[in-house]
Amino acid sequence: MSTVIVLLGPPGSGKGTQAKRLVGVLGTPHVSSGDLFRHHLGEETELGLMAQAYMEKGELVPDDVTVKMVIERIGRADCESGVILDGFPRTLTQAEALDDALEDQGQEVTLVPLIDVSDEEVMRRLTARRVCRDCGAVYNLVFEPPREEGFCDVCGGELYQREDDNPETVKHRLYTYYKETSPLIGYYFAQDLLSRIDGEQSMEEVSEDLREAIEAVREEA
Ligand code: AMP
Repeated sequence: MSTVIVLLGPPGSGKGTQAKRLVGVLGTPHVSSGDLFRHHLGEETELGLMAQAYMEKGELVPDDVTVKMVIERIGRADCESGVILDGFPRTLTQAEALDDALEDQGQEVTLVPLIDVSDEEVMRRLTARRVCRDCGAVYNLVFEPPREEGFCDVCGGELYQREDDNPETVKHRLYTYYKETSPLIGYYFAQDLLSRIDGEQSMEEVSEDLREAIEAVREEA
């Protein structure tokens, strides 16, 4: 029985952080569409360069390319016993494409935790977010500052601010979330897959609630 978790929530709700923590619990890979795009961009692939313009504006990369990239990733052998999806799907078209692809692989979505965070909190978190250029560790200058300003605690790499974490782009990303992604709340609610998690608790408490919600559906299965 595979476990496919779709983490839903606005940008900055902690999906990436929580997904990384869940990897240790579930033993399944974490697939982040944003990270896949950033990887392509870093390698200057055709796909990465095409996605760049959308990412910089806080808009969604077109469904066809996004679906192709993510479905190819989750079709690999390491996702046979499940996957933790972060940032995908973000539109109804993507959600339906995911359902079809999972069905072909004999899998289905197990649970969709919705990490609830207010708009004010999203703005506060994202504009203070810094990421390590070398290992990808994420810091927050307000809640989780690095020990040495500008450098990663884990590997000593240089910290940078993502281009799309400036206030104007964050506002546009939130708008895009409401317009394009929030319909997924209804889509998964109708399938009894949605589980609301209070994303403004401590990181530990959010992890605990997530673990409990996943455990509960796995026991039912
Ligand atoms: P994230 O790291 O999840 O905030 O994603 C960063 C950016 O990558 C987004 O603002 C989009 O431009 C693009 N992106 C990531 N995931 C998707 C997706 N599922 N559909 C379309 N665009 C995406």
